[in-house]
Amino acid sequence: MKDISCTVLVVGAGPGGYVAAIRAGQLGLDTVIVEAKRPGGTCLNVGCIPSKALIHAADEFLKIREMAQGKRTPGIRLETPSFDLSACRDWKDGIVNRLTNGVAGLLKKERVKTVEGWATFRDGKTVEVTTATGPQVIRAEHVIIATGSEPVTLPSLPFGGRVISSTEALALPTPPERLVVVGAGYIGLELGTAFRKLGSDVTIVEATDRILPLYDADLTRPVANRLHDLGIAVHLGAKARGMAGGEALLVETADGSEARFPADAVLVTVGRRPLTEGWGREELALDMDGQFIAIDEHCRTSMRGIYAVGDVTGEPMLAHRAMAQGEMVAEIIAGEKRAWDKVSIPAVCFTDPEIVTAGLSPEQARAAGLEIKTGQFPFQANGRAMTTEIEEGFVRIVARADNHLVLGLQAVGTGVSELSSSFSLALEMGCRLEDVAATIHAHPTLSEAIPEAALRTLGHALHI
Ligand SMILES: Cc1cc2nc3c(=O)[nH]c(=O)nc-3n(C[C@H](O)[C@H](O)[C@H](O)COP(=O)(O)OP(=O)(O)OC[C@H]3O[C@@H](n4cnc5c(N)ncnc54)[C@H](O)[C@@H]3O)c2cc1C
Repeated sequence: MKDISCTVLVVGAGPGGYVAAIRAGQLGLDTVIVEAKRPGGTCLNVGCIPSKALIHAADEFLKIREMAQGKRTPGIRLETPSFDLSACRDWKDGIVNRLTNGVAGLLKKERVKTVEGWATFRDGKTVEVTTATGPQVIRAEHVIIATGSEPVTLPSLPFGGRVISSTEALALPTPPERLVVVGAGYIGLELGTAFRKLGSDVTIVEATDRILPLYDADLTRPVANRLHDLGIAVHLGAKARGMAGGEALLVETADGSEARFPADAVLVTVGRRPLTEGWGREELALDMDGQFIAIDEHCRTSMRGIYAVGDVTGEPMLAHRAMAQGEMVAEIIAGEKRAWDKVSIPAVCFTDPEIVTAGLSPEQARAAGLEIKTGQFPFQANGRAMTTEIEEGFVRIVARADNHLVLGLQAVGTGVSELSSSFSLALEMGCRLEDVAATIHAHPTLSEAIPEAALRTLGHALHI
């Protein structure tokens, strides 16, 4: 096969890589992207999108089931509903296909050449791609590494048989009768909750003493309450030790005793690790930052002409961080003056209820030595929340005590993920409490809790 020469070579077509390639194409750079699987990476194929589709279906099913049982919205009467996971999977796969085909179309539109296959670096300017029709050599002036991440495995619980990762969980033909989830981070809780709503008997095993250990207790309490109400058993301080007899998970519980949890599926969600092996990193002289590829504020690695974006470069391993880095790197290569100066990378747990955070929590701000003012507004005092049967949750705001500069916003509650845009905008625009409080928010919406939280921090909330 004839060698290819290009200006920009992107390895990996996840959110980091495909956005970099689209932007490079828009800027007129001769660009090639290599992908071993399907465009869209983890996020579109086996991550953000299919998991949210499953969560949505599970929420709808539970809602309808509870309506049929007379537990929800007064006045609605229904027959007992049923659920077909394989039909739901077809619907979810349809969404994934639409999006991945969309990405392929966008790359084509910007005249980006896509090469399908696994890329291995020969040196800092050359990769060899193993394609279906033989090896393809590609040479480039600039290289963007966007190889992403993969699930962490536990040595005592290798994937296979009943032990599955989120990827297999999203492709199950029927909900497992008994599902044990190892790890109470956001992926484990999102999927565990969805399967419980679809009828599985769910047990969660977490080694630390709390769920969602990266979030503070005020934010996680409503989620813990909901897990309890849904009938999900949560074992904290408990360590998964392996499978017993192939049909049960062996667990060392918090008091040191041994327990066996029978399981039709054991979903291991103990984190993700950057994909830094298997593509010839050893041929390059890349500095590392722990397990990640080290980058500077321009996403430059320690090798001239080689950039890295997305999960392979560090936390938070989130799609929107990868996309923002990808866009920036393409513009830098095209000669624009850009640097990573983001004030916040919002994070959402699509748990029940949802948690959204942007910027600093009160704890983080105090740990950074800042004197702060903080206040929160509960959804119990919000009209829209009442009309949509949202009971629990709040919006919290953190600001500097001296000049009221907003440092962070957090919320927990049904549907609060959509508040993340206001939170990020407030932080990026350098808003003060008074700016947030003075912005008119439409009534009746959950978003009214944002200015109310600011007013409360200033000492004069109106509706509480
Ligand atoms: C179940 C689940 C739910 C998630 N939910 C969310 C969410 O709600 N919001 C959010 O922001 N994030 C979420 N994430 C995380 C999100 O998916 C990742 O942060 C995001 O996909 C990272 O993008 P990336 O471009 O860095 O890498 P990836 O999306 O991992 O893409 C990397 C791509 O590179 C390809 N590749 C790697 N090496 C090579 C090679 N040598 N040759 C050719 N191709 C190669 C891989 O096949 C892959 O397609 C979720 C993840 C999971 C697993």
